[in-house]
Amino acid sequence: MKKQYLLLGNALFLILCVLVCGFNFLQLKSDYLLKTKDYLASVTDYLDSELERSGLSETAINQVIDKTLTVFQDFDSSLRITVMNDNGNVLADSDFSLADLNNHRAREEVYGIISGDNVYISTRYSATENVDRIYYSVGAKNQPAIIRAAVSLNYLNTAKWNIVKHGVIIGLLILAFFNFIVLKSTKKLDEHVANNLQALAKIKSGELATRMHRDRYSYPELIEMSEKFNQTMEVLETNFTVLESEKTSLDAMVNSLMEPLVVVNKELQVVFANQYAKTLFKRDIDPKVTPYPFVLLTHENELDGICEKVMSSGETIRKEFVLMLTGGYRAFQVTISPVGSEHAVVLFNDFSLEYEARKLRSDFVANVTHELKTPLTSIRGFVETLRGRKDLEPDQTNNFLEIIDIEAARLERLINDILNLSDIERLKIDSGLENFDLVELVDECLVQLDEQASEKRINLIPGDEPVFLPVQANRDRIKQVLLNLLENAIKYHKEQGSVWIDLEREAEYVTIKVKDDGFGIDEQSVRRVFERFYRVDKSRSRSLGGTGLGLSIVKHIALLYDGEATVQSTPNLGTTFTVRLKI
Ligand code: ADP
Repeated sequence: MKKQYLLLGNALFLILCVLVCGFNFLQLKSDYLLKTKDYLASVTDYLDSELERSGLSETAINQVIDKTLTVFQDFDSSLRITVMNDNGNVLADSDFSLADLNNHRAREEVYGIISGDNVYISTRYSATENVDRIYYSVGAKNQPAIIRAAVSLNYLNTAKWNIVKHGVIIGLLILAFFNFIVLKSTKKLDEHVANNLQALAKIKSGELATRMHRDRYSYPELIEMSEKFNQTMEVLETNFTVLESEKTSLDAMVNSLMEPLVVVNKELQVVFANQYAKTLFKRDIDPKVTPYPFVLLTHENELDGICEKVMSSGETIRKEFVLMLTGGYRAFQVTISPVGSEHAVVLFNDFSLEYEARKLRSDFVANVTHELKTPLTSIRGFVETLRGRKDLEPDQTNNFLEIIDIEAARLERLINDILNLSDIERLKIDSGLENFDLVELVDECLVQLDEQASEKRINLIPGDEPVFLPVQANRDRIKQVLLNLLENAIKYHKEQGSVWIDLEREAEYVTIKVKDDGFGIDEQSVRRVFERFYRVDKSRSRSLGGTGLGLSIVKHIALLYDGEATVQSTPNLGTTFTVRLKI
């Protein structure tokens, strides 16, 4: 582009040079012709007056011509004088002998006078002399003669070539100077622009500290532009640094949040996820680089709908969701807030524990109601029968009263167990702690259950070791653990068999192991036996007077003493309950 402009400039300059030279030449030519005409007019005037005096004899004419040449030749050495009669026959000529000249009637300037003009000027090529000449002819005033004076136009030709020569030399010099200046200044401009482009490329690639070139030899406008740009960059860099540090701290804050947080765009794609969200939802992909559909994260279409609503209405919406994650279901309180109309921030507040507790509570209430209702219905039924039937035998009446008693006892046990359980759950540390011998307590329980065991011909076998195991705990609570486990081992046992009880101390922990060779528990139930009201065989448990809360109480007592309760069982072979307590 630059080259094109330069060529155009050069061409225009050359055209200008040609025009100036041409104009100069035309000016010079017109001046010269004017002057020459005056000169030739003086020559012909002089000739005419001299010829009038000397007459038109050949000798006289030649003398007059010689005299005239002497007078006028100083001005132009190429002066040629021709005298002709009024018919164009040459009488005398300053440059040629008469023998060399023919009749001049056909010459334009001679013919003009013969035709009646007083003066006739022609500029033409002379075939006789082989040069361009200007001819000036007049008719002699008082004699039959035509006088013609002529000078060559060599001067004009020389002047023309001189103008061209000088024009070309001066033009080329000016052109060379002009090109030199232009190329030098554009080189400076090119360097400046190239440097600044380099600086811009660096800024684009993130090197914000880069500044534009400030060459003091460059153009003032460019220097000013660079300075202004650099000042702007200074401000931008400062702002960017502030923004960067704010972003870093915001990122750190958002990533250190122990709640999953994601940002969803209008296309319902996740465009940001904090560290916790990535871990929880098991998504390593950085959504900033590769956004992915929000529903892939939550598997919950309703959340997509809420996001859309939040973005269009600008309102914050809070709702509880149970989401399916890789590790299982988790309950979240999800808060979706708009960020403009293009994005929504979704914060997941994990309240699975509370949700679970809430669910357990409501399940518990339902279970308790159900468990209480059964013996109550039975009691009311028998009471109704006793009231309505007056014809009952005393045996029958006693029988009914017996059943009412059993159901009432079951009700009492149930209420006691519920109260007991809620008591234990409420406590953080057990109360009523005392020092006692655990071996002795086990013996006490075995004695208490001896009759029950004997009825089913079950051997209760205490372990050999240890013989004395001092512990510090709430004695009744530990007795409850032992009785529950031993009673269960006897209850859920076929006729004839054994139950073993072993104690073991390991540092500050004591392990109680109750093993039987009874019914055993199937694999599915093993996982649930510690749940409240869970029974493997409901009817058998009820008929044996079970409340379904015994093992749950054992588990919570173990937890109260920083321990745990576990079970291992093989159906038809037997079960082993292990309780670890820090006592
Ligand atoms: P329950 O009052 O019904 O005995 P528990 O909580 O003590 O309630 O026991 C829960 C269930 O676990 C029982 O109903 C029974 O089916 C099962 N179970 C407990 N101990 C044993 C055991 N030693 N052998 C087989 N099944 C057992």
